[in-house]
Amino acid sequence: MPFICENVECRAVLARGQVRSAHEDKGWCFYCPDCKARNELKDIGVPGSTVELIQPERSDLPHKVIATARPLQDGTYAAQLRVQRALSMKGTYAVEEHWEQLGVFIDAQQAVAHAKSIATDLLAKARH
Ligand SMILES: [Zn+2]
Repeated sequence: MPFICENVECRAVLARGQVRSAHEDKGWCFYCPDCKARNELKDIGVPGSTVELIQPERSDLPHKVIATARPLQDGTYAAQLRVQRALSMKGTYAVEEHWEQLGVFIDAQQAVAHAKSIATDLLAKARH
């Protein structure tokens, strides 16, 4: 099974050959080649024998959130949001929710900020 970067902004799916595992004071880990985030690994191999590394399962699965602003013809911007929910198995995303237009803003940055604040609410609800 591939490793998946736990950084919610990244969530890179990495073949084992793509990552170099490292043994540090805190234990095994790898650093994501895309975003450099530290990802924890667990050695499930036989002690004293071969090392077999797996990624520990997390109960709160990461989500990927993409907030964008789409320019409209009248010069305003529509806030858009895509939220990808991970499968409980490692792999690709199970569900993608997609909002085309969450509101119209004069400024692109305001539109993105609005989409992000909605994402924060959604993810907070999903965790509880
Ligand atoms: Zn990453």
